[in-house]
Amino acid sequence: MTKPYAHQFLDGSPCDLPAGKVVCVGLNYAAHIKEMASQSSAEPMLFIKPKSALTSLTEPLVIPQGLGSVHFETEMAILIGKQLSQCSEQAVLPAIAGAGVALDLTLRDLQKQLRDAGHPWEKAKGWDGACPISAFVSPDKISNLQNVDLKLEQNGVSKQDGNTAQMLSPVIPLIAYMSRFFTLEPGDVILTGTPEGVGPLELGDQLVVKLGELLSVSVADIRFRESS
Ligand code: ZN
Repeated sequence: MTKPYAHQFLDGSPCDLPAGKVVCVGLNYAAHIKEMASQSSAEPMLFIKPKSALTSLTEPLVIPQGLGSVHFETEMAILIGKQLSQCSEQAVLPAIAGAGVALDLTLRDLQKQLRDAGHPWEKAKGWDGACPISAFVSPDKISNLQNVDLKLEQNGVSKQDGNTAQMLSPVIPLIAYMSRFFTLEPGDVILTGTPEGVGPLELGDQLVVKLGELLSVSVADIRFRESS
């Protein structure tokens, strides 16, 4: 059993923000759109993972079995500290309580099946444990949210090596845009999209996930979920 998820700060300072929903943007890096053979959209493409998808990146990753490949997508995560609804861009920065790194785990084969059938793809993105996430660093530790390296190494090999400067919708306007559709509440998390290099996880993989110089998390225990 993995521990119930609670938001944490890297420096150990207490976090009283309850875990909430995870509002995500797809296709926010041009090179990832290309590798997925997708088309860029005029407006940000949003989807939501439920709070039950959250799990700590330092716990074992528990992935579904028998549903095809599970891809990693390394993304900068933003912790929301104040309610935002229909907000201006000026309101966003004061509402950011932290930044971290998350994996937007995706059942890629299932996602394709659902997409081809014209169905919503929550099952491919929102399953229990589909959002492993790091502790958060406070925003004053980050000089520029739009110039942070985002890296994933798999078994010592660099697979993802991007920078948040490459985002098509930067964090501040993205969050203001999200708040036009979904009220963002204290404890909600924003995932800001993945750079290129996504690929399948395998049991036994050793991962290192990095957010600039701020965070480096090693993952060495990937398990299949036991059927109940
Ligand atoms: Zn993603």
